[in-house]
Amino acid sequence: MTGQLDGAVLRLVLGDQLSDDLAGLADLDPDHDVVLMAEVREEATYVRHHKQKIALIFAAMRAFAVRLEARGVCVRYVRIDAPENTGSIVGELHRALDLGPFSKVVLTECGEWRLAQALAAFAGVASVPVETREDRRFICSRDRFRRWAADRRELRMEYFYREMRRKTGLLMDGPDPEGGRWNYDAENRRKLTRGLRPPERLRTLPSPLTREAIADVARLFPDHFGDLEAFGWPTTAEEAEAVLADFLDRILPAFGDWQDAMAEGEPWMWHGLISTSINLGLLDPLDVCRRAEAVYREGRAPLNAVEGFIRQILGWREFMRGVYWLKVPEYRQRNALDADRVLPWFYWSGETDMACVADVVATSRTNAYAYAHHIQRLMVTGNLAMMLGVHPDAVDAWYMTVYADAYEWVEMPNTRGMATFADGGVVGSKPYAASGAYINRMSDYCGACRYDVKGKSGDGACPFNRLYWGFLERNRARLRDNIRLAMPYRTLDGFGESQRATLLAEAERTRLSLGAVLREEDAAPPD
Ligand SMILES: Cc1cc2nc3c(=O)[nH]c(=O)nc-3n(C[C@H](O)[C@H](O)[C@H](O)COP(=O)(O)OP(=O)(O)OC[C@H]3O[C@@H](n4cnc5c(N)ncnc54)[C@H](O)[C@@H]3O)c2cc1C
Ligand code: SF4
Repeated sequence: MTGQLDGAVLRLVLGDQLSDDLAGLADLDPDHDVVLMAEVREEATYVRHHKQKIALIFAAMRAFAVRLEARGVCVRYVRIDAPENTGSIVGELHRALDLGPFSKVVLTECGEWRLAQALAAFAGVASVPVETREDRRFICSRDRFRRWAADRRELRMEYFYREMRRKTGLLMDGPDPEGGRWNYDAENRRKLTRGLRPPERLRTLPSPLTREAIADVARLFPDHFGDLEAFGWPTTAEEAEAVLADFLDRILPAFGDWQDAMAEGEPWMWHGLISTSINLGLLDPLDVCRRAEAVYREGRAPLNAVEGFIRQILGWREFMRGVYWLKVPEYRQRNALDADRVLPWFYWSGETDMACVADVVATSRTNAYAYAHHIQRLMVTGNLAMMLGVHPDAVDAWYMTVYADAYEWVEMPNTRGMATFADGGVVGSKPYAASGAYINRMSDYCGACRYDVKGKSGDGACPFNRLYWGFLERNRARLRDNIRLAMPYRTLDGFGESQRATLLAEAERTRLSLGAVLREEDAAPPD
């Protein structure tokens, strides 16, 4: 072995780098080089990730290794239960280097700051040179985003998105946006029509390799969150392509209309179900956007649907990644609203009388899809956590745990930025705080709820209503100068001093009654 490795390159492929055209594999010499892939405890356990997420990553990694081997590539694959597994990526790199005289190590820049730090430290002590290549699977490089952000007072996704439209030519009509407008959001806020149900969705039948990964996770991570029974995520590029093709063909035309709608027991609605695949590298984001545009150009989907869909990927996804790398590590500490409460137990158990929250949490647990769509994450669980004043670390840990698509680079700007305003306005220009009226407008949840969505105070009133004014009052000093909150603050001021004090007291009482207490020991223990 040692002789064969003389001068060979050791190439690391991480669990979310499963792309044929990964930069770190670009000049791969299949006859000579070694690809290292390792399932390690450190990555699988730094939060108690949903079991489906771990099974998905292991299954996809194993399938990718088989794919490389079929091309004749030598893959050093370390399984999670291999007796000599060191438990960390860096440990496995050192162990691989001990195998023989490699000439260098090639890495592709990793998605999370935490691991990037560990790999940078490794590069400092490794016995051979370590080359780290840019991850070209994103449409905007970290450097380009940094340059775009450099001379701006505020970072707003909308302006970034326009620049990305110009750069890629997506949905452009010469120098102008297709149809004359950049954004068709106003047409994408319909409540689900009574009697209309979303179409059946294509889910992926687990292959034998996936079933094996599922069994390993059930055996080795029994105390992790969630169930494995309903696993249906694509684990190969071909499986991911089937889900994407089905979406583009049947679902995309109505994506825009129902983009923000929610319905009880309907986790998928008309969403793409592709985030797990894009985040793993099984789908290429620019290719997904171009294919969606082609559907529009062929007259098979309206502009509001296609623009709305492309904006999520070309705009939001790239913007969130740019913000993350621009602001870490300091971003991870942000807590602009001084939130200090623990996460109520019902976020884990789903045991709550709030019909909206129970449904969104149930889609993550009881139904065990490890999925909720964007508006559910933002306006139900995120909105509630913010108005309860839950500490951002606890919010982050929950989102990282319950969803199969969760990676810190995309999860954190969404939670600390968009959902809870803990970043103080880097991602969003105002907190997305909303009373029950918003949820009532966009869903069918309230009809079946024990709470009265029109009630303002008292135990029977919708908790979102009871929290809303108290949230604004509690954060008056921080938020009252925000121009986008001028209207609600004018309304609040119209209530008069004593009514404001009552609203604040009502919100405090609601925070306590929902379990958003101050001390960890007052909360129920995790299972
Ligand atoms: C609080 C909160 C936490 C989130 N955490 C994650 C996360 O950990 N991982 C993750 O991939 N997405 C996250 N999102 C974004 C979004 O909710 C998911 O990408 C989406 O629900 C995935 O389902 P889909 O593929 O059906 O999406 P669709 O609605 O069909 O959208 C298509 C694609 O656009 C991209 N996208 C849409 N919205 C966003 C967004 N806000 N940020 C980044 N990409 C976006 C995704 O790649 C998605 O697959 C979060 C959003 C919120 C509000
Ligand atoms: S009444 Fe309030 S708690 Fe109940 S479903 Fe509606 S918004 Fe949610």
